[in-house]
Amino acid sequence: MSDFASTVSSIYSQALGVIESVEPRIAAATRAELSDQRASLKLIASENYASLPVLMTMGTWLSDKYAEGTIGHRFYAGCQNIDTVEDVAAEHARELFGAEYAYAQPHSGIDANLVAYWSILSHRIESPALERLGAKTVNDLTEADWEALRAEFNSQRVMGMSLDAGGHLTHGFRHNISGKMFRQRSYGTNPGTGLIDYDKLLADAREFKPLILVAGYSAYPRRVNFARMREIADAVGATLFVDMAHFAGLVAGKVFTGEEDPIPYADVVATTTHKSLRGPRGGLVLATKEYAASVDRGCPMVLGGPLGHVMAAKAVALAEARQPAFQTYAQAVADNAKTLADGLLRRGVNLVTGGTDNHLVLLDVGSFGLTGRQAESALLDSGIVTNRNSVPNDPNGAWYTTGVRIGTPALTTRGFGAAEFDRVAELITDVLKNTTPVATAAGAPGKARYDLAEGTAERTRAAAAELLAANPLYPGLEL
Ligand SMILES: *Cc1c(COP(=O)(O)O)cnc(C)c1O
Repeated sequence: MSDFASTVSSIYSQALGVIESVEPRIAAATRAELSDQRASLKLIASENYASLPVLMTMGTWLSDKYAEGTIGHRFYAGCQNIDTVEDVAAEHARELFGAEYAYAQPHSGIDANLVAYWSILSHRIESPALERLGAKTVNDLTEADWEALRAEFNSQRVMGMSLDAGGHLTHGFRHNISGKMFRQRSYGTNPGTGLIDYDKLLADAREFKPLILVAGYSAYPRRVNFARMREIADAVGATLFVDMAHFAGLVAGKVFTGEEDPIPYADVVATTTHKSLRGPRGGLVLATKEYAASVDRGCPMVLGGPLGHVMAAKAVALAEARQPAFQTYAQAVADNAKTLADGLLRRGVNLVTGGTDNHLVLLDVGSFGLTGRQAESALLDSGIVTNRNSVPNDPNGAWYTTGVRIGTPALTTRGFGAAEFDRVAELITDVLKNTTPVATAAGAPGKARYDLAEGTAERTRAAAAELLAANPLYPGLEL
């Protein structure tokens, strides 16, 4: 490691020197970001630290090539190396997840979801319509046919988890394109248990008859039974689309197996590559053979040129995730979340659903008299980076919220285990207990108002610094 670390240190130092000579503010911000990441307890459930090989793969001239199209079938000349890159990324994705088909082009999770939605629409709506009209391609349609097809697209129904129950914006939220391009109805969780109520979901689906049933979440601290989701989709003739953006690492690492593994049950699966999967910032779509051809038309349907350098980094990250060490990592992510949840519960913090069995924990800070925004800010003052999040039926709305979402993927990458996460639970509780809300004047939303008892921030920062120093980020990398 030390040879590698010193080589990488010198590469990055020199590269930043070159960048500095062009735009010093960017070199400075890049250096500062490393210090900031090193100096705080990063508990944001959707973040991680990609490996140095993954990061280095992104900094190359693969970025310079236009390669719109698909592997071996591009709209530009000279794409042989991008073909290789995309092919290797897709091969690793298929092998890692046991998927029939993988599409490595989406630039982000939202792009991957748009590709998924449009490929499902194209498979379920456009193809049958073309057949009905005796047209081979959309080019054969008359203007009147087009109008009818657009109307058909826009009248489709999607059913996904509501935002305040832990779903994502792209699952039909009214301010997202998914809530505008579809008629949508969301499903929530049982008010008593906080868990998905599959029987109620089935009854609602029978009534609403969605074309697409979306399973997946950003802030639900529990596992999903995808066999049940499949049954519900089948009962109403829906396509089952699973958005595993948050928990792909737990699927890759074989923590979620059997009915908790979405791949055998879903028609289409989309994910990010940068969250628990620990790759570069990007997206990925997996599909059954049946949906493969329509997913493959992500470009030109939704995407332009793929990011060759990022697809290359996806290939490297997916290769890493196929190593046995990644399964150890993924299991530790889940074990650590449990330790963190238990540590918080034991110290009197309320958790949505009363715990976790994935990588994230959702604190309900209402019992401290705090909003999520006040808690988030007080924790940040103390060197603990989290994000506020709605709890189901949140009394404080989506801006202030009553929850704080935390997760274990990033700090587990740094090497934190049970002892460290129990200590983190202690630090969080200490900060919450020492934060007093200061009422915000009605109609004056400004800063989060709270008082942090004297010495709390300093005490917590010192304790955090100790934990961080014992588990360095990119050890040996010195700039
Ligand atoms: C993070 C997330 C996304 C969006 O990913 P981006 O890369 O930020 O576009 C989509 N769906 C879910 C469930 C997510 O958690």
